[in-house]
Amino acid sequence: MTTREIPGNLDDLPNVNGDRLREECGVFGIYGHRDAAAITALGLHALQHRGEEAAGIVTFDGTLFHSERRLGLVEETFSKHQVIEQLPGDFAIGHVRYSTTGGTILRNVQPLFAELNSGGFAIAHNGNLTNGIALRRQLVREGAIMQSTSDTEAILHLVARSRRGLFVDKYIEALRALEGAYSLVALTNKKLIAARDPLGIRPLVLGELDGCPIVTSETCALDIIGARYIRDIENGEVLVFDEMGAQMHKPFPPTPARPCIFEYIYFARPDSIVGGRSVYEIRKNMGRELAREAPADADVVMPVPDSGVPASIGYAQASGIPYELGIIRNHYVGRTFIQPTQSIREWGVRLKHNANRAVVEGKRIALIDDSLVRGTTSVKIVQMMREAGATEVHFRIASPPITHPDYYGIDTPERDRLLAANHTIEEMRELIGADTLAFLSVDGIYRATGEAGRDPVRPQFTDHCFTGDYPTGLTDQHAHETPPRQLSLLAEAS
Ligand code: AMP
Repeated sequence: MTTREIPGNLDDLPNVNGDRLREECGVFGIYGHRDAAAITALGLHALQHRGEEAAGIVTFDGTLFHSERRLGLVEETFSKHQVIEQLPGDFAIGHVRYSTTGGTILRNVQPLFAELNSGGFAIAHNGNLTNGIALRRQLVREGAIMQSTSDTEAILHLVARSRRGLFVDKYIEALRALEGAYSLVALTNKKLIAARDPLGIRPLVLGELDGCPIVTSETCALDIIGARYIRDIENGEVLVFDEMGAQMHKPFPPTPARPCIFEYIYFARPDSIVGGRSVYEIRKNMGRELAREAPADADVVMPVPDSGVPASIGYAQASGIPYELGIIRNHYVGRTFIQPTQSIREWGVRLKHNANRAVVEGKRIALIDDSLVRGTTSVKIVQMMREAGATEVHFRIASPPITHPDYYGIDTPERDRLLAANHTIEEMRELIGADTLAFLSVDGIYRATGEAGRDPVRPQFTDHCFTGDYPTGLTDQHAHETPPRQLSLLAEAS
């Protein structure tokens, strides 16, 4: 999405590196359907996992743009008839937003909208610009008045300032100034425009319903409305829909795609097909690879629900150890990370999970989760298993240790809060309280996706969270690097 919030006071910029500023998002757009707003609302429902904090829809009715953007879940705003009725028009884009910050404000909720010389322009962004602050600084210095604290707004200004004649050329010129990850849907009074950054870091797919094109983050948003999947928007592609039909532009020098591996590990919904691959199957494969790389002497395999479920099915299948549900999840509690402070996050874990004593007591458990970030979940879950009578807990993580922050729109904190960035595996094991702890290797995740392993020269994905190999420039990061803060994880996790 839209990424990070940028402090109103630009002198405050060093703070933008704090983990409170990251966001994740989902986008949806439809061109030329009489139920555009209702369909977009349904699509956003399916993308809710990509952003629980706010949702918005902008429509165009041939004359006017209409907009509804609110904090809260999609259902809270867009299940109401009256709201959809106030969004007339056959053209719509929508957005769900997710940030770890408590400071989410309505003016940051997307789609962002502006009246340009060429007419109305709305934009929704999934991803994160790594030069958003530099762009904003420059724009503000040149007199731009910013309405939000989101870096996506820079795109509006860049389009508005372009001296190119055709709108598409203005838009492409704006995209050329961006660095980082962006999957965008934009709406003008004539066009729906989809665009994906040159490396295709965040997903974006093209579908069709009743002959009308749809562009959205994941295929699960096509499924919910019975739309047909056509293809993924390619890395570096700008696809324009207007009354002339569809025109594809490839304005960047061709380069191999580097989609984010974390979509497969955690972020995308398991029923989505991302990059032509089933997220569910890949997660199961990760579990299979993990069972091979890190077998456990256990009586049962159990997932940390829901994120660890597909991997633990794979682990159970490959190891032959029975699969049981040892932890029951309360589905009425949001994702752990939605809680803005560490103490509330810890609470969240307890609110969310309960041990199923009937299958845990007296058992040696292979406990599987998809990833370990701060370690908050793991500490609580292992303790919960022990309290429920587990005799041994062998914790297995179906991805490698996360040693580097993400700057492309996935919510991972800065290095000093990443458990694996600051501890050995043995230290982490002790901290978490498990009998054994093991992670899937980097080559293991690549094998799970069907590759032979990670190509060291041209990696097939971006895996910067595990390798520190960032595929783009990190202009803002380098400009505002602060000395690492003292590690406080031990205190937080205890
Ligand atoms: P932690 O408790 O901080 O180690 O976080 C690990 C848990 O958070 C795992 O169960 C993951 O499924 C989940 N997780 C991993 N990455 C993210 C993310 N970017 N946003 C929200 N949850 C995440």
